[in-house]
Amino acid sequence: MGVANLGGHFGTVTTKPVQEYTPGLMESYDATVYIGSTYYGDEIPDAIPEDFYLDTLLSERPVTWVGENIWNMANSVSLQEFAYRYGWDPTSSFYDVDGSVGQITKVNYKGQELTRKIPAGQDPGVLHPHITPGGDNATVTELAQAVDTAGGAEKNSPWAIRSGNLTYVGEIPFTYVSESDRVIAFQDLLFDALAPDTAEQHRAMVRLEDITPLSDTTSLRAIADYLKSKNIAYGINVIPVYSDPKGVQNNGVPRTVRLSQRPALVNTLKYMLSNGAVLMDHGYTHQYGNVDNPYNGLTADDFEFFRAHVDATDTVVYDGPAAEDSAEWAQERVTAALAEFARVSLPTPKLWTTPHYAASATDYKVFAQNFAARMERPLYFSGTLSGTPTDSSRYLGQFFPYPVTDVYGTKVLPENLGSYEPEAHNNNPPRLAADLINNAKANLAVRDGFASFYYHPYQPVEPLKETVEGILALGYTFVSPESLI
Ligand SMILES: [Zn+2]
Repeated sequence: MGVANLGGHFGTVTTKPVQEYTPGLMESYDATVYIGSTYYGDEIPDAIPEDFYLDTLLSERPVTWVGENIWNMANSVSLQEFAYRYGWDPTSSFYDVDGSVGQITKVNYKGQELTRKIPAGQDPGVLHPHITPGGDNATVTELAQAVDTAGGAEKNSPWAIRSGNLTYVGEIPFTYVSESDRVIAFQDLLFDALAPDTAEQHRAMVRLEDITPLSDTTSLRAIADYLKSKNIAYGINVIPVYSDPKGVQNNGVPRTVRLSQRPALVNTLKYMLSNGAVLMDHGYTHQYGNVDNPYNGLTADDFEFFRAHVDATDTVVYDGPAAEDSAEWAQERVTAALAEFARVSLPTPKLWTTPHYAASATDYKVFAQNFAARMERPLYFSGTLSGTPTDSSRYLGQFFPYPVTDVYGTKVLPENLGSYEPEAHNNNPPRLAADLINNAKANLAVRDGFASFYYHPYQPVEPLKETVEGILALGYTFVSPESLI
């Protein structure tokens, strides 16, 4: 799913278990990516058809091989043939060197130092390809380097290599990712296979988050005037109904406030829209019923489309879709949100961001029916590719450096830097302007990528200025989220 979503930036993606490969199939596609997530060896018989090995060897079309089983290909097509075409020997390439996978903490790619932070005991390592010297006609290009920092002295080995039609990546790069992660190298390498003529450009986006009917108009205007002074277009993510069913911000008295009851705020939003902002819908109430989900029932604090609780270690745990989750239920909430915007003569938003980035597969499809695109980090549930009922307890959370059409068939715009958060919460460390700027720098490795972040307008304007100006100094150009739909 992770690769298919990224591939959805470039065109239509077909996914299949490798067992279903039929001879010649790769000639019908621009490129093939094989994900070696299951090790075939010892007592597990090789499930890869011999035709897949042979076609990879004989095809001129690009094949990207990620992770396990490349040695099985070498054995299948003969090691001599493999080494002749590709210039390396997978059968003598290992994850372990001197009995240990080491501590690969960085991946260097196109001048950027990308991070690789795997918790202790969880690291399966990176394959160290054994490049065979001389004699053959194959030239092996090192695309990215893994840096092992165990014991202080840095040791480099190839992280990704290319020879002939074969790009090999020594690990599946979707685990334990962060905003400066080595997955960025993989995101960029796909251009070589799928859009090699892409020109280098670096765009940035910013959106203001969690604007409610009770948001302070003075701070909104200050931010609007700053962004206007820099000629920056931006998104404004509005929650049209503020709900506080327990009165946690109102002396214990429950309170609901609608946009239509706050004309001064509506005027401020219209002022922003006439000065470079684009309206986005950030849910209906951004909370769930009158229960703690997970905090206090308050708009912008709680989840709306997914259930969650905080566990004994102060970590937010996802519990799954709401009990009444269905396409009808999600549509009712979207319809109610759109009606609030219409009631105060705001334009119909074309963009959506799911509250707290969590909803069911059913909900995501409903959002796609109502909006041109979502700007967010979605959840992708097990079962989506096979078409079996999705398992809401097994999912991949993913963020993107460029717009994609994802495995739900819906368009997602990038948000890959996160937000300015001066204080730690729920075991997430603070994220300061410098962190966002460093992450934007790492993303310069994506040849046609974005630096996209969001900002809470209740924060002072100064860190926003610092972030925006840091990103501009890296060479990014801010564009409106609307320019991508
Ligand atoms: Zn929010």
